[in-house]
Amino acid sequence: MLTPASILITTVLLSLAMVLVLGSLLRAEMAGVREWFTSNLAVIGGLLLLGLRGLVPDFFSIVAANLVLALSTACYYAGCARFLGRPPHWLRLAAGIGALALALTIWLYIDDNIPLRVLATTTYTGIVCVAVAVLLLRHRPSTRRRYNYWFAAALALIFALCQVARGIHFIMLPLPSDPLIFHSTWNMALLIVGAVIMPAMTMVAVMMIHDAMLAAAEDAANHDHMTGALSRKRLETLAREQIANAVKAGRPLSLLIIDLDHFKHINDNHGHAGGDTVLREFVRMTRASLRDSDALGRMGGEEFAVLLPDTDTAGALRIAERLREQTKMQLVIGAFGECRYSISAGVASWRTGETFDRLSMRADRALYTAKSAGRNRVLPDDVQAVDQAMPATV
Ligand code: GH3
Ligand code: MG
Ligand code: MG
Repeated sequence: MLTPASILITTVLLSLAMVLVLGSLLRAEMAGVREWFTSNLAVIGGLLLLGLRGLVPDFFSIVAANLVLALSTACYYAGCARFLGRPPHWLRLAAGIGALALALTIWLYIDDNIPLRVLATTTYTGIVCVAVAVLLLRHRPSTRRRYNYWFAAALALIFALCQVARGIHFIMLPLPSDPLIFHSTWNMALLIVGAVIMPAMTMVAVMMIHDAMLAAAEDAANHDHMTGALSRKRLETLAREQIANAVKAGRPLSLLIIDLDHFKHINDNHGHAGGDTVLREFVRMTRASLRDSDALGRMGGEEFAVLLPDTDTAGALRIAERLREQTKMQLVIGAFGECRYSISAGVASWRTGETFDRLSMRADRALYTAKSAGRNRVLPDDVQAVDQAMPATV
């Protein structure tokens, strides 16, 4: 038979399962997981205390039990806040728990009033649930799919409504209240919803954790971790997408292959760490100089590629020349001392029907020619384009 005791035991078991799931994620050291883990531990503690009703003094089974459950809700909110990189507002949460402690004490010891005790706890939980929903909707990461966050916020709002309904239900009951009112069908239904709040919210938290882990893995695969430029694999994928766009829209697309000159000397003179600093500074400056729609990738070692959508050869040559001049002027300063460097670049524009491999081979060929011609220069693969972009002056 469905009794408050059976609901309580089921919830303890569910929360125990959640503790095990979150426990396995603790070592990922992701912000918020510790708070969510604590939240589920608190649910178990609070429910066990509730279950001891009649066996231990009312202070433990009523006041302490409800406060531990309130702590659980607070920890859930703090977990969401920390997960989203927001302040957990511990002071406000503590103030809420303090107010609840006062209300429970008054309506147990001064005026033993079950409806008002229930109203106090449901008001607290309802407010925190609404705060969770607002937090998730306002601060969800814009780069991730909305589904998990909307789902979590919708659940939090449904639970907030159930809390309001439970509070109203108890307030409407005739006085004096008998503890048997906890067994009414209405209360049982609302109790079941209340009991699954934390396990259900934890399941959504686990979905958000997995999504964040996926995002971190994607980010690591898509970027070169030393310089922050795109990885070669990501740049090649983007290039194929942009070629498809260029075909559809009939827009030009250009590619620069850039290589730092005499990089071996830089390593020899300033050490490998010095060389690393030069690579990072080159990427930082180049990124700042390009449009958001341009893509900068590290092809390997000290060789980089820049994809320039909507850019023809003349435009690409101007951009490459600007980068060459900027790098020539750049003084890299670090623990190793100071260093100047230069780049050579090959430029090629996409031709109808051409694959990315072929396009990059042509840009490479131009780079090779720039190196042979003395370095610190920019050359196109298509020699005709030079005359258009940089007319010979007399
Ligand atoms: P060139 O002007 O012909 O390009 O000469 P180079 O010395 O730049 O070219 P080379 O290909 O002979 O040497 C590239 C050097 O770049 C060799 C390699 O040790 C160094 N290198 C590759 N990756 C890294 C890195 O991540 N950090 C540092 N510091 N050096 C790197
Ligand atoms: Mg080089
Ligand atoms: Mg090289």
